[in-house]
Amino acid sequence: MTLSDRTKRLRDDLVDGQRRALARAITLVESTRPHDREQAGELLGSLAEATGGAMRIGLSGTPGVGKSTFIESFGMKLIGQGRRVAVLAVDPSSTVAGGAILGDKTRMERLVRERDAFIRPSPSGGELGGVARRTREAILLCEAAGFDTVLVETVGVGQSETAVAQMTDMFLLLLAPAGGDELQGVKRGVMELADVVVINKADGALKDAAARTRADYASALRLFRARDGEAEGYPLALTASALEEEGLDGVWEALVRLDEGRHASGLHDRRRRAQALQWFEAALDSNLMAAFRARTDLRGLRAEVEAGTLTPDAAAQAAVGRFIAARE
Ligand code: GDP
Repeated sequence: MTLSDRTKRLRDDLVDGQRRALARAITLVESTRPHDREQAGELLGSLAEATGGAMRIGLSGTPGVGKSTFIESFGMKLIGQGRRVAVLAVDPSSTVAGGAILGDKTRMERLVRERDAFIRPSPSGGELGGVARRTREAILLCEAAGFDTVLVETVGVGQSETAVAQMTDMFLLLLAPAGGDELQGVKRGVMELADVVVINKADGALKDAAARTRADYASALRLFRARDGEAEGYPLALTASALEEEGLDGVWEALVRLDEGRHASGLHDRRRRAQALQWFEAALDSNLMAAFRARTDLRGLRAEVEAGTLTPDAAAQAAVGRFIAARE
């Protein structure tokens, strides 16, 4: 495939590591306009070999648990070690242009100023599937731009954690110290995604509570069966203080050990392959749906459903039948 000059320039600037080119490329993949989709497809296709190299880390936790504080401290630490850190967000509820979750400029004040950091708010609007698609593509673009660590943040709502786990290599769950000894209202499904649980705010008056909470989670996590090909001891529970920058080395070491173990056992590659297939299925559904909706006039059927002269299911069958008949 020959690239248009425009796409080629964008690709060259991106691969050169220019953050402005990266921002523009992400805007392109976020666009739903057919012409932009086409150029985005061209661009991504031309980058296949430059992608896949980053450590992709999902991060979740309820609002207020300290996600942005953690990402800022953790990101600064990684940059200090010579890594290049991209931060993306998945927030399907975000409707504000530019995204609500990371839109606030006061978040991650130090990190935004770093040359080796790139922070991008959640793509705004649309259902989770669309947001997930755009975020997956943004991950690839970050990798092509030379970011070796991609943090994908999500707030603890609904299905977004699962979507993030499906596009990352490992999943970090941030929790706050609990008052009593009972586990916090973390859904079992979310706990099951976690590779490393971090009890944040392990400082000052909360330090003891954090240690107790960590012990509670450590025993709860033992109930989850270790994954095939996993390093010993995961999922793991740790304490940290994002504010006082304590325990962050331990979190990083835990992630590195996990990652190395998975590379050695082949689990890393198996996960990436499974994710590629999942992505293919999702893309198939959405492409098919887009093609169908663009080519099928549903107004008559809608009117019949509203009037009660046709059942919804019969109308749907008729619509799909017409779509198929028109292509035969
Ligand atoms: P987010 O909503 O999950 O992104 O949480 P923020 O990072 O905005 O933090 C929420 C509040 O918790 C802020 O007031 C932070 O200063 C505070 N916070 C975050 N991390 C820590 C920590 O490690 N220790 C303490 N004591 N407070 C923290």
